[in-house]
Amino acid sequence: MIVAFTDLDDTLFQTLRKLPPGMQGLTPATLGRNGQPHSFCTPAQAALLAHFEASGITVIPVTGRDPAAMARVTLPFTSWRVLDHGLTILRPDGQVDAEWRDRVLETLHPLQDALEECTVAVSERAAALGCRLSRHTAHDTPFMTVLKHPDADAGRLEQVQLVLEAHLATRGYADLHVIANANNVSVLPRHLGKAEAVRHLREQHFPQAALTLALGDSLSDLAFMNACDLALTPPGGQLLRTLTAAKLPQR
Ligand SMILES: [Mg+2]
Repeated sequence: MIVAFTDLDDTLFQTLRKLPPGMQGLTPATLGRNGQPHSFCTPAQAALLAHFEASGITVIPVTGRDPAAMARVTLPFTSWRVLDHGLTILRPDGQVDAEWRDRVLETLHPLQDALEECTVAVSERAAALGCRLSRHTAHDTPFMTVLKHPDADAGRLEQVQLVLEAHLATRGYADLHVIANANNVSVLPRHLGKAEAVRHLREQHFPQAALTLALGDSLSDLAFMNACDLALTPPGGQLLRTLTAAKLPQR
C-alpha cells in the first residue's frame, strides 16, 4: 500500500492569479464562497491525481483549511483528511476523529491565555498597517490568529510577523509559533500540527504502508514532509524559492 499525504492550496491546485494568463486545460478544484469555481488544477496536477487514483494510492489531504473551506474543495477525497493545520482529523466517513480531538483540546487549553495575549499585542500594529485580523477555532476552541493584508503587501505582513515573533520570544512562549506565506501570517500551536497528525495516521491506521509520499509547497509543510518517506514540491513554491535563494554550501 502507498499513501500520499498532500497539502492542497498551491500544491494540488491554485487560484487563477497564480497561473500563467490564458492557461488551457484547467480543472476546477474548489468553489469560492459565491459558489463559483475558485481554484484549479493544471493539467500536470490533474495528471498526478489521476495517476494516484489509477494506481490505488490512498490520498490524504493535509491542509490548513477548516471544515467549511474543505467542503468547498470539489476534488473527491474519500480517505482520512487532516484539516485546521493538523488540529482536526476527519475519518473516511467524514466524522471528526474524537480521540485526536481530545488530545488537541488537552494541548489547546493551557495555550489560551498566551494566544489571546499575542492577539491583543499585535492587533494595534496590524490595524495601523491595514492588516485584517481573524481568530480561528477548532473544536469550538481558539487555536490560531491570522493576519491578512487586502493587497497581500509583503512588507506590511513581514512587519506583523516580526511583531508576533518578538512577542513570543520576549514572553518565552515556545509552544506557539508563527507561520507565514504570501497571503497571510498566522500564530498557532507549535505541536499537534500537520506533522503530528501525519505521524498519528501512519502509526494508527497505515502501519503497513510500504511507501508514504508527502506533497507540499510551503515551509509550514516541511515538518510533515519530513515525517514521510519521500517528498514532492512544486517549482515556484515557497519551499523551492527559499532553497533557491539560500545559496547553501554544498557538502
Ligand atoms: Mg500550500
